[in-house]
Formats: sequence, C-alpha cells, structure tokens
Amino acid sequence: MNQWQIGNVKISRVIEMEVTGGSRFILPQATREEIVKIPWLTPHFADSEGNLIMSVHALVVETPDRKMIIDTCIGNDKQRNIPNWTNLQLPFLEDLGKAGYDRMEIDTVMCTHLHVDHVGWNTMLVDDQWIPTFPNARYLMGKKEYEYWDSADEDELNGGLMDDSVRPVFNAGLVDLVEMNHQICEEVYLEPTTGHTPGHVSVHIESEGEEALITGDCIHHPCQIEKMDWASSADYDQEASTATRHAVMEKYADKDILIIGTHFATPTAGHLKSKGDGYWLDVGK
Ligand SMILES: [Zn+2]
Repeated sequence: MNQWQIGNVKISRVIEMEVTGGSRFILPQATREEIVKIPWLTPHFADSEGNLIMSVHALVVETPDRKMIIDTCIGNDKQRNIPNWTNLQLPFLEDLGKAGYDRMEIDTVMCTHLHVDHVGWNTMLVDDQWIPTFPNARYLMGKKEYEYWDSADEDELNGGLMDDSVRPVFNAGLVDLVEMNHQICEEVYLEPTTGHTPGHVSVHIESEGEEALITGDCIHHPCQIEKMDWASSADYDQEASTATRHAVMEKYADKDILIIGTHFATPTAGHLKSKGDGYWLDVGK
C-alpha cells in the first residue's frame, strides 16, 4: 500500500490488481520496441523487455471530516467481457480494512467516470442481489457522464455496469449527480479532463498549501506523459483526450503538485517534469 499526506489530507492506495504486460490492447502504440526507448519507465512502469506494468486500485481520501473513496475498481462477482476482469474473487474489502477503513464508515464515493474498472465495488453481491457496498455514503457521479452512459449502447467497457454497479446505488437513493467542477469539500474538488469519456473528471486535493491530482484515466499509463499523442483505444474521443493530456502537462509540469495515477503501478505518484520539448514523471527514487 502507498500512502501520501497532502496537508491535512491522507491518501491511501488500495490495490485490487497490479499486472505486467496486459495493457497493450488499450494503448496500441505502446509496443515493446517503443517502450524500451523510454528509459525512465523502468523499473516501476515497464519491465526491461518493454512490457507495461499497470494497476487497478482505489484511492481513499481522508480529510479532517470526510472519508471518501475515489474509483471502486472492478469488483467481485461481476460478469464482464474482459477475461481477466470477470467473476473476480479478490480480498479488496479486507485490504481496505488493512488500510484502516471499514466500508461502513466511507461517507463519499466518487467515480471519475463510468467504466467497469471504476465502479465495480459500488456494489457487492449478497443473496443474489447487488447491494451498495458503502451504504452510508453519498455516491457522486458526473451528471454529464451519467446521462451519456444511461442511454449509450453497451460495449466491453460498460457492458452490464449500469445494471449491476450504478442503478442499484441510484435506486437506493444514494447518488448525487454533480457538475464537472464540483467542490466536494473544503480540500477536494473536481477538475474536468474529458476525452476518455464525455464527462471524465480528475480529482484535485489542496490543503495547507500542498496539492495533489488524482488523474482518473486521462493518462492511463505514464508512457503517455512522454507520448501525449498516444491515445487509448478505450478513449471515447481520442482527439479530445490528447488535447487534455497536453493541457494537463502544460498546467502542472514543474509545479509542486503530486500526480497520483489511477492506473499507475507502484509507486503510483510523482511530479511532472519538463525535458526538452516533452515531459516525464519523477517518482523521486
Ligand atoms: Zn480505467
């Protein structure tokens, strides 16, 4: 588990899975030959043969008066089209407990976007029913994001998720649909980073003069920090996602803001630095 302190806010990473080599289908330009040409990716984000390392994890953001979870991974018992993501039986809730949090005390759930690897633990299967995993939380979802997926055709990135991970919490009266620049609490606000999906947001944390940004999937893998034009095949609008990556680098490179990647492998966070006409992620070790 990684943990970071941003002023009065503690951020803890709860890993559902971390894998090597399984992500090229999502970043088709990130071939082994291209990845080995980016030496700073090794050893944390790629192995010496150019295989990408990626993670699916949740981030618990604890402020002086809130305990929130940002993105809820793939979840157990979900039937998905992606072979390694279907019918999982992983100890995610136990690991959440080891990080110091009981599901009953989470008061806010925020989904950066509605793809299957960001909403899974919204619900859990009990007696053949999908029930809210965090019954004492408000579940925040982008209004634009929700409205898009509510009427979209199903594909491999959203197949089944509305029925098993979104509508059950909606029907339980736990969802608040929010704007893309919503202020969640004093220390935490949303920042629109669209392109990956129509209503995609990142999560900005600011406390006691310190800052962090939880990316969501506007950057899937750190290789896209150097290769900003490598869009993901999962992006809804590749031109818009590329423009968003350029904007994020311009805004945050060489600034004192910790960038915490939603799919970045251990150590998961670092600072954006410029080099020549591009950028890289400095993880400080
Ligand atoms: Zn994702």
